Amino acid sequence: MYIHRPREWGMSLHWGTEAVKRLLSPDLRDRIKETWTDPTLPDDSFYELPIYAGHTGELLGKTPDRSMRVTRRKMRKLFSENLDIQYGKHLSAITKSEEGVTVAFTDGSLAHGHLVVGCDGANSTTRQLLVGDAGKVQYLDLTMINFTCKFDLDTSRLIRDTHPFAFNSYHPANRMFWISAQDIGDPEDPATWTFQLIMSWPGSPRGGDEALADQEARTAFLKGMASEYAQPWRTILEKLPSDVKFGTDKVCSWRPFDWSTTTPLAGSATLAGDAAHPFPPYRGQGLNTGLEDANELVAALNHISSNSKDLRTAVQRYEKGMLARAFAEIPLSEKSASAAHDFQRIHEHPILKMGLDKASKAANNI
Ligand SMILES: Cc1cc2nc3c(=O)[nH]c(=O)nc-3n(C[C@H](O)[C@H](O)[C@H](O)COP(=O)(O)OP(=O)(O)OC[C@H]3O[C@@H](n4cnc5c(N)ncnc54)[C@H](O)[C@@H]3O)c2cc1C
Repeated sequence: MYIHRPREWGMSLHWGTEAVKRLLSPDLRDRIKETWTDPTLPDDSFYELPIYAGHTGELLGKTPDRSMRVTRRKMRKLFSENLDIQYGKHLSAITKSEEGVTVAFTDGSLAHGHLVVGCDGANSTTRQLLVGDAGKVQYLDLTMINFTCKFDLDTSRLIRDTHPFAFNSYHPANRMFWISAQDIGDPEDPATWTFQLIMSWPGSPRGGDEALADQEARTAFLKGMASEYAQPWRTILEKLPSDVKFGTDKVCSWRPFDWSTTTPLAGSATLAGDAAHPFPPYRGQGLNTGLEDANELVAALNHISSNSKDLRTAVQRYEKGMLARAFAEIPLSEKSASAAHDFQRIHEHPILKMGLDKASKAANNI
């Protein structure tokens, strides 16, 4: 496995848990709690996500289904046990030959095999190599700030007293403001607690604008919203630490299609996770769908012998399921992104209507 540069944040794991259970060895499956933001909590701590109006503190609703916060760092640590993972590798080319397939990295090194699975995220190089310009993502007119930080002890306690895992809020200024525990080192010691904050909004200021040009301006921008929020959001914004560091992110979407007859790499390279279907992250589906991709790909590959025709058939079977998952979720994620940033329509947000359910199951409910 070859990875360029991983980045850290937390994610809600829910229906993807089934895929994890099937993918992991019994030993790792028993240790799944190591990926939780707070692994000391009881096994049945899966929770319903509360969603508030940030300016009044009114509870708008709770997701009917339950989820768990996991961190990318902890997932990577557990899932990578006994795997040969090489970090700092940046894919640049894929070549197919009689013997199989070869990938080249920007450091000049090569790797050979039978199938390339591009799990290289929303701006996937594998996707570009597979489908060319048709692989370019569409950017939504949204700016997102997504970072982790520590707070002073009182603010840390305030956040965890509000909710031990996570709570989300929407604001009439058409913003989403998410807060969650990211890493709870010692549950008794708030000095060891780290939190994740996500703020996103449509239109100006956009990432890269003067108003967000440097860290001082970005911190002032967030702190400047404090008076528009009720508690605890007001204090959380006011108490942002002075040494906090974060950038701005764009939010994108891309619709996969059946490339099996249009690319010479068909059957020798495929996509999974955000590389295959980058969703705007407003219904917490990307990780869960990516895990299902992994599970389905492994299941398809388990059926083949050493025959390259079998491999191509297995990859096509996987891609058919992957496309169905993506087609079901993409409209819901785009609708979620839109409703999350239009407070007048907040009750149309799919997360309030059908929670975190799998799109294929939930589509009839909205
Ligand atoms: C703020 C936020 C909150 C989210 N919350 C949730 C949630 O609650 N629940 C949920 O299900 N999903 C959530 N998601 C979505 C989830 O994070 C993604 O769907 C998931 O991380 C996708 O995993 P991935 O492995 O496909 O891609 P990534 O996590 O993007 O990993 C891709 C990896 O490939 C590497 N890479 C990139 N280019 C190359 C290259 N050329 N060569 C080699 N390596 C390369 C990158 O360095 C990276 O390590 C959220 C996303 C965001 C942004």
